[in-house]
Amino acid sequence: MKSRFSIHEAILIAFLVGISLLMALLYRHETELQRNDLTRDISVAEQLLTTQLEADQSFLEQIAREKSEGALSREQFETRVAKRLLESPHILAVIWTQPSQALYWAAPNTRSASDFQSLRAPFAEQARLLRLTQSTNRPTYSEPYTATDGKSYIEYAVPLATETAFLGTLNAVIAISAFSRALLPPWFVNKYDVAIVNSDGATLARSDDRPRQSSGYLSQRQNLSLPWKRLQLEVTAQKRGSVLAGVTLGSTILLLTSMIAWSLYSLRKEGTRRTRSEQKALQINERFETVLDSLNVAVYVSDEITGALLYVNQHFRETFTLAPDMQIAAFEGQFAPNPNSLLPANVGDFETVNKSEIEHLSSKRWFITRVRRVRWVDGSAAQLHTMGDVTDRVDAERVKRAQQERLMLTSRLMTAGEMASTLAHEINQPLAAITNYLNGCMQRLRADSATVASIAPAIEKASQQAERAGKIIHRVREFVRTRDPQRESIALPSLIADVTRFSEPDASKPQHSFAINIAPDLPNVFADRIMIEQVLLNLVRNAREAMAERAVGERLVTLTAAVGADNMIVVSVSDRGHGISPELAQNLFSPFTTTKSDGMGMGLSICRSIIEYHEGQMRFQPNVPQGAIFEFTLPIAENA
Ligand code: ADP
Repeated sequence: MKSRFSIHEAILIAFLVGISLLMALLYRHETELQRNDLTRDISVAEQLLTTQLEADQSFLEQIAREKSEGALSREQFETRVAKRLLESPHILAVIWTQPSQALYWAAPNTRSASDFQSLRAPFAEQARLLRLTQSTNRPTYSEPYTATDGKSYIEYAVPLATETAFLGTLNAVIAISAFSRALLPPWFVNKYDVAIVNSDGATLARSDDRPRQSSGYLSQRQNLSLPWKRLQLEVTAQKRGSVLAGVTLGSTILLLTSMIAWSLYSLRKEGTRRTRSEQKALQINERFETVLDSLNVAVYVSDEITGALLYVNQHFRETFTLAPDMQIAAFEGQFAPNPNSLLPANVGDFETVNKSEIEHLSSKRWFITRVRRVRWVDGSAAQLHTMGDVTDRVDAERVKRAQQERLMLTSRLMTAGEMASTLAHEINQPLAAITNYLNGCMQRLRADSATVASIAPAIEKASQQAERAGKIIHRVREFVRTRDPQRESIALPSLIADVTRFSEPDASKPQHSFAINIAPDLPNVFADRIMIEQVLLNLVRNAREAMAERAVGERLVTLTAAVGADNMIVVSVSDRGHGISPELAQNLFSPFTTTKSDGMGMGLSICRSIIEYHEGQMRFQPNVPQGAIFEFTLPIAENA
């Protein structure tokens, strides 16, 4: 199945998912770090503020103590306060408020009385503060308030009393804005947005006057651990780009870009490569089809599984009529014998080419088919078949075979004719014997001396002789009859004996002598008896004819039989005749080669055909000192 994504797309998607996860993790980690920072920093800031305010308180308490002990003049008071205000600019004024709420001493003296009044808490708040301080005899903070200049302040009142009398309070007017700016270290103010928020949540002062940036920043509030605890320090973290995040983001983008570029590049490369290889495949295919179409041989390719015809060439279309969607089985059904080449078992592996000759039933034409397994263009297993028209050759072979069969018969008849005188002699013997036995019987019958016991043996012998004569006639008929070859296990000695017997027209006055040399325990051969007899009779006749010029005593035909190489038996017929010239030897086994005026020149050609039919070989060699040796081989019978 084809994937929906290419490898490049998959890589890209995986990469994007990975990057998003990494970014989310980084963001979380970053926020966590910032939150921790914030918690730590806000505590530090609160600590610093508290310390500063406590220092201010101690200063006021010290002054108050000195005053109540009567050791502080107004001048000293003013000097000490002025000095302190230089160090603590968040304190705008220090005012001695009498129990009547009237202003008694006030510093710095750079301010006028109305100036001091405009900075102070509302009258009622001043009264409450005075009362509270007097009643508790402890320093007290006022409620935060907005002065006429629109800024927020707070007053810190320290009781001023001797042992006997309450002298009022020493009030410090403190600018709340200092809590969010001047009293905090610069790194804190730069890092964070700091605000002072009252108990209603209203912002009284801010470190940065610019309008607030959008929400979403980390923000945290902490009560200022001053005695009244009504103010809160609200700290908001600026969004900060961590170096790590920046680097990661940058390199991620860089990597992502290069990956996309790489993907695109390889996609394009792949595309070009594919187009090129597709074009090449197309060209190859065209060339392949052109070549196949120009062949004078029918070519077709069939699918091994479905049997569908995948391809047929031009010659195929011209030679056979092809029904649409024809299956190979239907096509091959038009031939005899049915090649059944569809079955892989019949086709073999990819290396093997199977050949067979089949006849197209309707056109009566013969084809040699070759089939082998191939991989088709889509990789499936297919079979490539080629069919060459061999009708002419098959016809020629058929004619040749018919001719040869006729010649074989002719030669057999001729051999039989030669055998005739021998046979006549052979038949004469039993016939003469029969005549003798029957005459004897007749005489006894006529003389009335016949008894069953006296004539029965004679009649029996006559019958045996008649049977023998019948067998001889049967053999001649057998020899001459046209018949299919019948191979069987044959003992050569008896066959050779028969041949020598038939080869001598008049056994009573032999013209030739035979030397028979058969190896002891010679195994049987697997052959057709009549055919081998025919070969030997032919060779013996040629040998005899070659020695016709010799004196009778020199006419010797030697027959040998022995086991040779390759499990074959070698039979030879040699003579002392005129021999065969080298020129003649070259075409000796070709048909119509003869030196005889009445010869047909077919004898040796037929002999060789018969031996080759028996998977044997026939050869000739000169005999020493003269004559010829013809030799042939025959296979040993398996259970011989
Ligand atoms: P044919 O006997 O009809 O001529 P063969 O094919 O039997 O045909 O023999 C072809 C020729 O080979 C003969 O004409 C003869 O010249 C030669 N030939 C065959 N056998 C012998 C032999 N044993 N010695 C000499 N020549 C032979």
